[in-house]
Amino acid sequence: MLSGKSAVVIGAGIAGASVAYFLSRAGFSVTVVDAGVHAASHVPSALINPVRGQSGQVDARAIEGMHFTWNLIRELTTQGHDLPHGQNGVLRPMPDDRTRAKFERNLPADLKTEWLSSAATPEPLAPGWAHILRLPEAGWVDGKALCQALLKASGAEVIQGKAGKWDATNVHLTAHRAPLPAHHIIFCGGSVGGTWAGEAATHRMGSMLLLDRAPTRQPLSFGAYVSPDARGGVLGGTFETPSPVWEEPCLPLASLEWLLGKGEALTDLQGVSVTGVWTGSRLSGLKAGRQTDGTWRLSGLSSKGFLLGPLLASQLARQISE
Ligand SMILES: Cc1cc2nc3c(=O)[nH]c(=O)nc-3n(C[C@H](O)[C@H](O)[C@H](O)COP(=O)(O)OP(=O)(O)OC[C@H]3O[C@@H](n4cnc5c(N)ncnc54)[C@H](O)[C@@H]3O)c2cc1C
Repeated sequence: MLSGKSAVVIGAGIAGASVAYFLSRAGFSVTVVDAGVHAASHVPSALINPVRGQSGQVDARAIEGMHFTWNLIRELTTQGHDLPHGQNGVLRPMPDDRTRAKFERNLPADLKTEWLSSAATPEPLAPGWAHILRLPEAGWVDGKALCQALLKASGAEVIQGKAGKWDATNVHLTAHRAPLPAHHIIFCGGSVGGTWAGEAATHRMGSMLLLDRAPTRQPLSFGAYVSPDARGGVLGGTFETPSPVWEEPCLPLASLEWLLGKGEALTDLQGVSVTGVWTGSRLSGLKAGRQTDGTWRLSGLSSKGFLLGPLLASQLARQISE
């Protein structure tokens, strides 16, 4: 017999860790089950950047999501969690007037922006950029540290294991005989979890080259991004051809060359050493809410996991509590 309000969350990436945090704050007793592998959320430096892609698309919830994530980071930092991040702006260099015009059409009036000329750039940009859009409220965060801080602050019990089957009130682990019962089951399995569950979807892999130092203090983003991270810097993005299933992480040689080319087009990489590589896969097709089988879900955060994940998780937790 279950007492109080309980929930089992499958997946401890930014979706699952945020759901666990907000459910705990709403008075739930929360258990998190995580397989401990292939979390896209462990990206060493995730941009919290509301202006996406190469035409400046801005999601309707982007500004609210950005402020929500920064408030959460401030809250966790105040509680004493070690959370490497920098909210000192993101620069979006653009190659020509046409691209600037496309961005300008998409920028909402309530988003703080600054246009800079390439002569007045605050960071050492490679030559050839016509305009620079600065987003002063954007920045970067260490993905893994944010997930770990959320889990710790939630006080949730975390079980390392793989959920093989689940329904509206039980999760069965592949290596456990006893099922985990709860009032609510929330699936936040990301790219790998969707494939393990046999679902058809769109997955996109990308890699970050880990650098011994950050080429610039403010992240630069166009095609790929360079950014500071906790240990130095990164150069990367999600750029592989979309796939219908999650695939084993790899960085093909052609992608490495492409990435280095993108990095050199952004800034001067001379004297910067590559110290490692991190590869992850993200899932498209947002699903947030109650499913027809009675389970709940937050998945398909695509390239906006850190921009929208915490906000959507807080909304989901509110729905579950009602
Ligand atoms: C290279 C790269 C760069 C990115 N850059 C940015 C960025 O700058 N800004 C941004 O906002 N987003 C960025 N993203 C996207 C972001 O990382 C994702 O949107 C986000 O991490 C997805 O979070 P998630 O919690 O849904 O899934 P994940 O982080 O993938 O977590 C899923 C977790 O669930 C576990 N799991 C799955 N199935 C099961 C199961 N059956 N049982 C137990 N555990 C299970 C997995 O092991 C994993 O730990 C980037 C992604 C990549 C790959």
